[in-house]
Amino acid sequence: MSLLNFTEDTYRQLLELTARQYMFCGYRSCPPQPHVLLRHDLDASLQRALALARIEHAAGVQATYFLFPRCLYYNLLHPESKAVVGEILALGHHLGLHFDVSMEHDPADLQQLVQHEKDLIAFEFGQAPEAVSFHLAGDFKSRLPAQDEFCGMVNAYSERLARQYTYVSDSNGVWRYTPWSDLIDSQRHPRLHVLTHPEWWVPQLMTPRQRLQRAIDGYARRMGEWYDETTRKYQRPNY
Ligand SMILES: [Zn+2]
Repeated sequence: MSLLNFTEDTYRQLLELTARQYMFCGYRSCPPQPHVLLRHDLDASLQRALALARIEHAAGVQATYFLFPRCLYYNLLHPESKAVVGEILALGHHLGLHFDVSMEHDPADLQQLVQHEKDLIAFEFGQAPEAVSFHLAGDFKSRLPAQDEFCGMVNAYSERLARQYTYVSDSNGVWRYTPWSDLIDSQRHPRLHVLTHPEWWVPQLMTPRQRLQRAIDGYARRMGEWYDETTRKYQRPNY
């Protein structure tokens, strides 16, 4: 598989090939049989998240969507964002919290900050996240908790998950270690932990930087549309 082959069609194929050998499960419902934890850290695009959620639903599999309250690229609390998350949940997917561990803070405050964001998600979306993952985790390893649970959520960076699961990530729009396709072998890898970021998966072949720009441009276009619709609706000037 090409290093840059991150299209929706490829994604569908990966799901199909994986589903032949593995069950897809949430972080709190792992079976003894070969299974995959399919994790999405929503670093840059809710719209791409929804696109993947629909593809997964059509393939009959579930993933966990880690919402990112401190994201630069979208406002999670805007009604349109909330509608997108509601649709993802209605498709049967699980909820997680993506926490920015790179923030300057006293390590002693980590628990309080994570709890605050967990409570925010529970309040806004009507259900508490069942797992937590950490943004830029690889660059801030010393700040990560190692225990199985953190603030009553499964810790996606626990020492146990790292030991028991074969891990693969599409960080920066390329396969970071081994391509996912090379790991689909339930004899050799009975437990898979697959991290993807939805902004890297697009309809057509593009370079990673083009894919990120696509997400940025899509959000910016929507901001302009919102202004045009709102000025029209309330009969305001719009020159
Ligand atoms: Zn992240």
